[in-house]
Amino acid sequence: MSLCSNLSDKLDEKILEDLTSNVKQIQDSLLEEILTLNANTEYLRRFLHGGSDKELFKNNVPVATYEDVKLFIERVVNGESFDVISGIPITGFLLSSGTSGGKRKMVPRNNKYLENLKFIYYYRSIVISKHIDGLKHGKGMVFNFCKQENTTPSGLPASVATTSFFKNDYFKNRQPFWHWSYTSPDEVILCSDNNQSLYCHLLCDIIQRDEVVKVGAAFVSILVRAITFLEKNWKEICANIRFGRLSEWITDISCRDSVSKILGEPNPELADLIEKECNKKSWEGIIPRLWPKTKFIESIATGQMAQHIPTLEFYSNKLPLISSSYVSSETMFGINMNPLCKPQDVSYTFMPNLSYFEFLLVDAGDKFEIVDLVDVKLGCLYEPLVTNHSGLHRYKMGDILEVTGFYNSAPQFRFVRRGNLVLSVHLEKTTDEDLLNAVTHAKMVLESSNLMLMDFTSYVDISTTPGHYVLYWELKGKYNNDIAEIDNKVLVNCCNVVEDSLNNSYKEYRRGGSIGALEIRVVQQGTFDALMEFFITQGASSTQYKTPICIKSPEALVVLEEKVQARFFTDNI
Ligand code: AMP
Repeated sequence: MSLCSNLSDKLDEKILEDLTSNVKQIQDSLLEEILTLNANTEYLRRFLHGGSDKELFKNNVPVATYEDVKLFIERVVNGESFDVISGIPITGFLLSSGTSGGKRKMVPRNNKYLENLKFIYYYRSIVISKHIDGLKHGKGMVFNFCKQENTTPSGLPASVATTSFFKNDYFKNRQPFWHWSYTSPDEVILCSDNNQSLYCHLLCDIIQRDEVVKVGAAFVSILVRAITFLEKNWKEICANIRFGRLSEWITDISCRDSVSKILGEPNPELADLIEKECNKKSWEGIIPRLWPKTKFIESIATGQMAQHIPTLEFYSNKLPLISSSYVSSETMFGINMNPLCKPQDVSYTFMPNLSYFEFLLVDAGDKFEIVDLVDVKLGCLYEPLVTNHSGLHRYKMGDILEVTGFYNSAPQFRFVRRGNLVLSVHLEKTTDEDLLNAVTHAKMVLESSNLMLMDFTSYVDISTTPGHYVLYWELKGKYNNDIAEIDNKVLVNCCNVVEDSLNNSYKEYRRGGSIGALEIRVVQQGTFDALMEFFITQGASSTQYKTPICIKSPEALVVLEEKVQARFFTDNI
C-alpha cells in the first residue's frame, strides 16, 4: 500500500473516532444549526415563534407522524414555496417504502441528504476494508437498479432514494475508489427496465468473474432474487457468451451498447465452464463456484431480511455476510463497525453528524419518555425520532431498536422490528419479529426435508369465523428445482411449529377458540417475483424492495391467491 493511501486511511479512521467520541457536542450543534435554518418555516414558527433554543424545541415541538406533516409536504409538492417546511430549498422528494393510507410517503430532500448518503457509502466501505484485505484491486458485482423519476406539479423530481442517488452528478462523476468499481457499466444501473437491467448485470458479472471480490445488493432479498433469475436464465446467458451476441430482447440502447462492448468476441471456453457449474444438480455454493475470488457479501440482512439468510448461506457457502448500514429515505442512521460479526449479532453505531436523533422509550406504560442519543440506556427498546435538514422534526420512524452497546460514546442499536406491523385477529398482538421467529423455527422442519423457503408473507383472514392467520409460502427443493410433491405431514408440522412459536396471548386465544387454525398456503414458484412486479407497478423500487411481511392490499392478495397450489392447517389443537 502506498504511503499516501496509508495516510488517507489513517485520516478516515480518525474522522470516525472523532465523530463517535464527541456525540453530545456534535448533536447539540447540529440541532442548533437545523433550528436556526428552519426557525422561520411555517411549520416550526407555530411552535418556536422564531426561536432556535434546544429547550424551547424540546418543550414545544410535538412528536410527529407522517400524517401530521403530510399536508405541509403536499403543499410544497403542489408548488408552494419550500419555506412552508424548510429554511433551505427542497430539491426533490423521496418515495419511501412506508405507506400512508395505501399511498407511498413523499419525503422532502435537499443536498444534505445526498451528503449523508455519500458519507455512509464511503465510511461503511472504509470500515469493511479495515477488516478485509485485498479489496482495492477487485470489482463489486452489485445489483443496483433505477426507476423512472416522476415530476411533482411543482416541477421537482420524485423518486426512490437509490434512483435519486444514481441519477445524480455525484455518482456520474464519482472519484475512483474501490467501492465504486463495478462489473456493470452505469448504463445497466440506469436502465429503467429492471428485467433487462438484471439480465445485463448477471452477464457482465459472469464475463468478469475473475475480478469479482465483493457481491452486493441493498437487501438480501434482492440477491436471492438475482440468483433465482440466473437459475432460470443461465442457458441464455451462456449462449450470449458462446456466440458473442447479446439477446435481442435487450432493447434499451445504452444498455445494449455498453454491455455488447463488455461481451466482446465469442468465448466458448467461458460458456462451457459456466454451463458445467450451472448444470450441476445442486446450486449449493453457486456464488463462490461462479465467482471464486469473492471475499464477502454486502447486503442488509437484519430485521425482516433475516428470513433470507439461510437461503443466501446455501448459495454462498457461508461467505461473510455484511449488513453494513442502517438507512432510510428520512435520514441515514449508522454503520456496522464490526462487519464480520454473525448476521444475527449486527448492531449499527449511530453517527451524530447525520441528523438530530431522539428516542422514544417503547413499552413505557403511561410514561412518555424521550431521550437524546447520548442518554439511551443499554438493553432498552426505543423508537427513533428524526429531526433532519429538510423539514422533518421529531419525526417518528416506526422502527424499534434495542441498545446493545457503545462505540466510544456513540450508542449501538440492534434493529428489532418495524413498530407498526402487527397481526391481530382477536386481542393478541403479533409483531413482525414474533412472526419471523416462528417462521425461522418452522424452517428447520423444512430443512430436514431438503426444502427451502424462498419467501413468505402473511395475511389475517377474517372472512372465516373465527379469523385465522394465513402464511403464503414459496418453496423450492434444495437439490432439485421442482418439487414433485409436497408432503402433507411436513407442512402440517410446519403449521404446528409456527403456532407453537408464537407469543402466549396468541396461544391462549387460539386454545380458547377466538383464533382459528393457522394456515400455510403454498404458492407456485415465481409468485413472489409476480408480487414484486405488482408492487413495482404501484411505485416500489427494485433496489429498495422489501417483501411486505403482512399483506393488506386486496389487489396484492389476488396476485397471491391466483397461484395457491396447496393448503395446510395446524392439527394439534
Ligand atoms: P426506505 O425509506 O424505503 O428506504 O425504507 C427504510 C426502512 O427500511 C427503515 O425504516 C427500516 O424499516 C428498513 N431498514 C433500512 N435499513 C435497515 C437495516 N439495516 N436493517 C433492518 N431494516 C432496515
